[in-house]
Amino acid sequence: KKIAQADSVAVIGLGRFGASLALELMKSGTSVLGIDLDSEIVQELNGELTQVVRADATKREALEQLSLNEFDRVVVAIGTHLQASILTCSKLLSMGVPHVWAKALDDQHGLILEQLGVDHIIYPEKDMGKRVAHLVRGAMMDYVEIDSGFAMVKMNSPKVLHGLRLGDSNLRKHYGVTVAARANADGKWQNADASTVLKPGDRILVLGPIEDTEAFGQLPE
Ligand code: ADP
Repeated sequence: KKIAQADSVAVIGLGRFGASLALELMKSGTSVLGIDLDSEIVQELNGELTQVVRADATKREALEQLSLNEFDRVVVAIGTHLQASILTCSKLLSMGVPHVWAKALDDQHGLILEQLGVDHIIYPEKDMGKRVAHLVRGAMMDYVEIDSGFAMVKMNSPKVLHGLRLGDSNLRKHYGVTVAARANADGKWQNADASTVLKPGDRILVLGPIEDTEAFGQLPE
């Protein structure tokens, strides 16, 4: 069976990262073609993804046979095998795949992929380390770097904001951040606006420059 390639994603390398990514895509309703060299891995994921194939992704014929050139988005999740990662990316790019995403183990690996022309480079270990550092350090419950320098943080509402209309709190002026949404004790999220008044125990979603969201995240509840 052949899946409609344009709105599907091909994931090459179904190790811990690739498999988790592929399964998450399936959950959100995306069709996924998974490819791995290891037949045991292929067997394990058989039935979990739209299609799973055992193939050597460094071989152009294999990629052509699987019509990878017809995919809009292909993720190369091969990390530890540097040579396989580089060869696979270079073949995909020369086949004209519009969006190649690739996992890099470190900066050097990332630099090579960048020079090849890979447009989206993912550093799972590095990014997760940064993210966990923010969580370990403060009251933040979740942290996402939106783009370099800007972040979104989930945290408990700090005491300084309790009982005050957000519109009167001078939040942006004093702390450089914006409260985008809040959830009350029963966990229901709502957009926040100028008339929102936070209570102890509320959770909030805060947006702003990293240093500012970080400082704000350290305020006592
Ligand atoms: P992780 O750390 O996420 O487990 P790895 O880099 O260790 O990632 O795993 C990458 C996966 O890519 C492995 O399952 C491996 O079998 C697969 N792989 C390695 N080389 C190739 C290749 N040439 N073609 C297809 N899959 C490959």
